[in-house]
Amino acid sequence: MEEEKKANFLEEIIEADLASGKVESILTRFPPEPNGYLHLGHAKSLCLNFGLAQKYGGKTNLRYDDTNPTKEDTEYVDAIKEDIKWLGFKWEKELYASDYFEQLYEWAEDLIKRGLAYVDDQTQEEMRANRGTVETPGKNSPWRDRSVEENLNLFREMRDGKFADGEKVLRAKIDMAHPNMMFRDPILYRIKHAHHHRTGDKWCIYPMYDYTHGQCDSIENITHSICTLEFDVHRPLYDWFIKTLGIYPSHQYEFARLNLTYTLMSKRKLLELVQKGLVAGWDDPRMPTLCGVRRRGYTPEALKMFCEKIGVSKRDQLMDIGLLEWCVRQDLNERSNRYMVVSDDPIKVTLTNWETGKVEWFDAPLNPADPEGAKRRVPFTGELLIDRADFMEDAPKKYFRLRPDGEVRLKYTYIIKCNEIVKDENGKVVELKCTYDPMTHPQSGQWRSVKGTIHWVSTAYAKEVECRIYDRLFTEADMGGIPEDRDYKEYLNPESLVIKTGFAEPALLDDNSGIAVQFERVGYFKKDPDSTSERLVMNKTVSLKDSFKI
Ligand code: ATP
Ligand code: MG
Repeated sequence: MEEEKKANFLEEIIEADLASGKVESILTRFPPEPNGYLHLGHAKSLCLNFGLAQKYGGKTNLRYDDTNPTKEDTEYVDAIKEDIKWLGFKWEKELYASDYFEQLYEWAEDLIKRGLAYVDDQTQEEMRANRGTVETPGKNSPWRDRSVEENLNLFREMRDGKFADGEKVLRAKIDMAHPNMMFRDPILYRIKHAHHHRTGDKWCIYPMYDYTHGQCDSIENITHSICTLEFDVHRPLYDWFIKTLGIYPSHQYEFARLNLTYTLMSKRKLLELVQKGLVAGWDDPRMPTLCGVRRRGYTPEALKMFCEKIGVSKRDQLMDIGLLEWCVRQDLNERSNRYMVVSDDPIKVTLTNWETGKVEWFDAPLNPADPEGAKRRVPFTGELLIDRADFMEDAPKKYFRLRPDGEVRLKYTYIIKCNEIVKDENGKVVELKCTYDPMTHPQSGQWRSVKGTIHWVSTAYAKEVECRIYDRLFTEADMGGIPEDRDYKEYLNPESLVIKTGFAEPALLDDNSGIAVQFERVGYFKKDPDSTSERLVMNKTVSLKDSFKI
């Protein structure tokens, strides 16, 4: 990946617009529909909209696209704000498409008066049938030539609640044979007798996306309206409304949406996972939602680094989730505190030459990048626990951890030697009787080295920790490419959550860094809100090992 980044196509457009004086400063917007929680794809859009504005001294509005009252809710409105703040972005104004319902309505009457809109009584099926296809022109509605007066009356009656849902719609009168299907008399308003989370029962007609988005941009004087590629076919219509209404000329630009391997980014599907109880909630740490990855331990810095690295493109692409994990590791490696935690199924180590009851405290840096910085205190006693993976009875030559008659350093402390193995009746190793070498105290001045260093905890001081080990949510890398006749839920990874009990050094309980910590030699873990004062629950953020090659 190049170090010096070339300007991306959006930056080029903005720079040209500023240079030519077409705009004085830039104003972007982030337009979420409050029908679900934000996901990693939205983070990409946020980084672009807010990032570009920041870079060029402009501003960004947060505008909720709240024209679908039945699917929207204030729960989502609030969660979206929390997620944006967490990413560290500040919006200029908090706005709602519903703020403009009155203005949009007036413009609709204006279009009717100019003969550019009509009330259509056709059913949905009739409208669909009469729309034609890309190859064949559509058919005019039998209601297309109503008089302005009749249209105005009917439209007012629609607003006043005289008709049932679906009985009538307001359509623009453009061209039923237009080569761009979007122009075949698009629907402007539909009737929906539904309670809106902001406007209550004031309206029973709601404007359609295409009739709303551009005008909202225009009302706010948005200079660059950035959205995902699937909207490029809508752009001519976006321009048509702005031009026809003679309002501020906002412009729309499209970029490729973010897709990631082993996950999905459709709010509809994520909602289904939540509703069916297939995950623990929107903030389940396996979810690609921002609240999910936050709970898992991903940081805003890592997400921004990732968005920066993937750049913007005009072509849809599937990004390797390994790159995102790489960014998380990069960030946490620099900032996270270190602790020793022996995970599930440890082996007991008894030091036969340690004075009974003696405790020795060692200082260990919280972060090795700052060896002179803050320290934690680690208690060392005659009975310890080590990871089962750090001992091997018939070890190959290149195995540098503990083996019978072999030596290893216990991190920050002494070198120990394994003298005797104790097994249970099934032949499972349950205890290693070892001796420590007092001369190998790190401050003894008589440093001698061994090839292996392993982590450990003192049994007497160990704290039990519930470790939630997460893996990918789906087993398939390209979830967008699964066969049409298969359900995405068939690909849920049954191993995506495994719970283990870990034994932690006591200092972990006092960690108040607020970000994920590193379990030395294992990976990064973030404290979960399910933790109690008695028992820590830690979510595995990402392993230490890096399989991604940058
Ligand atoms: P979904 O398909 O998940 O429901 P959406 O596009 O309907 O997403 P919105 O709330 O309308 O969700 O999205 C707000 C903004 O975020 C839009 O400008 C949209 O283009 C952008 N966005 C949504 N998904 C992605 C993605 N995967 N990558 C980049 N931008 C995205
Ligand atoms: Mg949308």
